Amino acid sequence: MEPDPSSGATCQEQSGEEKRRSKRVLLRVAVVVIGTDIHGKPFGEVTHTMVVSAHGALVELKAELNDGQRVLLHNKISGERQSCRVVWFRRTKEGTNHAGLEFVTVSPKFWQVDFPPDDWRVPTMRAAILKEFGSPLDIGELSRPLPLADEVLIRVEACGVCHSDLHMAAGDWPDVAAKMSWPATLGHEAVGRVVELGADVSGITMGQRVGVGWLYSTCGVCEHCRDAAENVCLKRKITGIAAPGGYAEFMRVKASHAIAVPENLPAAEAAPLFCAGLTVFHALRNAGLRAGQRVAVFGVGGLGHLALQLAKLAGAETVAVDVSDAKLEFAKKLGAAQAIRSDDPNAAELLKAGGGPHLAIVAAPAKPAYDLAIHTLRRRGTLAVVGLPKEDLTFFADDLVVSESRIIASAVGTRDEMRELLMLAAAGKIRCEVEPCRLEQINDVFEKMKRGQLLGRAVIQFN
Ligand code: ZN
Ligand code: ZN
Repeated sequence: MEPDPSSGATCQEQSGEEKRRSKRVLLRVAVVVIGTDIHGKPFGEVTHTMVVSAHGALVELKAELNDGQRVLLHNKISGERQSCRVVWFRRTKEGTNHAGLEFVTVSPKFWQVDFPPDDWRVPTMRAAILKEFGSPLDIGELSRPLPLADEVLIRVEACGVCHSDLHMAAGDWPDVAAKMSWPATLGHEAVGRVVELGADVSGITMGQRVGVGWLYSTCGVCEHCRDAAENVCLKRKITGIAAPGGYAEFMRVKASHAIAVPENLPAAEAAPLFCAGLTVFHALRNAGLRAGQRVAVFGVGGLGHLALQLAKLAGAETVAVDVSDAKLEFAKKLGAAQAIRSDDPNAAELLKAGGGPHLAIVAAPAKPAYDLAIHTLRRRGTLAVVGLPKEDLTFFADDLVVSESRIIASAVGTRDEMRELLMLAAAGKIRCEVEPCRLEQINDVFEKMKRGQLLGRAVIQFN
C-alpha cells in the first residue's frame, strides 16, 4: 500500500519487531521547505513532506522535477540547506506532484522531526543490496518504491540469477559500472504481479502477472528500434542499473516493457526465460538455424540447457559440450544426440565428425570453449557469441577466410521474441530447469555459479 499524502501516514501490516525498527529510523517532518535546482533557480515550496527515513524523503510539491536531478532544499525556519537527488518523480491522477528524494548529504537537524504515532507505517521491502563492487550482497530493507506515471509496481514472485549479475556485482564491465546507481539492486529476470499502476498506465490490470528482463526501456525511435532490433537500442536502459532490479520483494517496471506471462507457467520457470531463454532464442534466430542442421552448444548451464531444447524444437540435431559429466547427462535427457567432454583429447575430432556443426553456440564464459568451437565449425558455419569470458577472443583471419565462417552475437532479444518464447514455454515445448533459492542465499548461489556447480538456473523465490 502506498503512503497516503493526505494523512502523512501509511498503513501496512508489520510485525512488532519491524515496528520497533521503523520507529528508530523513520521520522515525521513538520517544516516548510523550499527547493532550488543546483543553479539556484527556485522550484517552489514543498507543500507536504510525507515520509522521511535515514535515506530519503517522499514529498509533495508544486514544481515538476526530473529523475536524477540534484536539488537543494532550504528549511525556512532553521535556515539550513539539504542536498538531495530526485530518485523518481510522478504526477498523480489527482494532479499533485510527488517526488522521492534521496539524501546526498545528511543533516538530521534539517528535518524537524518527531516520532511517528503507533499506527503510522512506512512500507519497506526486503532486498539484496549491492553497496560496492566486489562486496557480498547485503540482505536488508529498502523503502518500497512508488511507480512513476508510466510504470507499474510489481510484487516479485521469482527472479532468476544471471551470470551478468556476477559481472555487475564485481564491477567487471566499466561501461555498465559507470552507469550504476547506488546502492544497487540487481536482477533482470523478474516475474511478479502488478500491485500498483502509475497515473498514465493503460492496458495492464491490477493483479496481472508480468515479467521484465534486461531492457528496462528502449527509445522506440532510433534506427534499431525502428528496424525491429530494439535490443540494441541506442538509448536502452538496463534493469538493475538504470532502475532497481528484481532481487527485491517489489520492483518498478516500465509499463511498456512489462510483458504478460501466461498464468499456466510457474513464475520460477518463466523468470529465467527473460534473459537466459531470450538470449539463446535470439541467437538461434540470428544465426538463421534450419531444420536438419547440427548445432553444438558449449556449456550446459542456464542458457545452454535452453539452447539445446530450442535448437531441437527447431529440428536441429544437438551436440552438448561441457566439462561436467552431470551436465552432459542432463543434456542427454534434454535430447542431445551427442554429449562431449571438452577436455576429452578427442573432443575436436568428435565435434568435426560429419563435417562439424553448422552452428556453435558458446554459452560458457570460457575462452577455451570459443577456441574449440571456432576450430571445429563446419565450413560456412556460424559461431554465436553468447557467454562472456573476461579475456579477448582471438582468431586467425585465415581460419575464418578458408572456411567462410560467420561470427554473430546475441544481445538478449526483443519484446516480440519474448512473447513468442513465453508461448512456447506455456505450451510445454521447452522447460527451464530451476534450482530454487531464497533471497538470503544469494551470496552462496553466486559462489556456486562461479564454480559452475549449478544444474539449470538459480531462481530466487519470494513467498
Ligand atoms: Zn542476464
Ligand atoms: Zn531505440
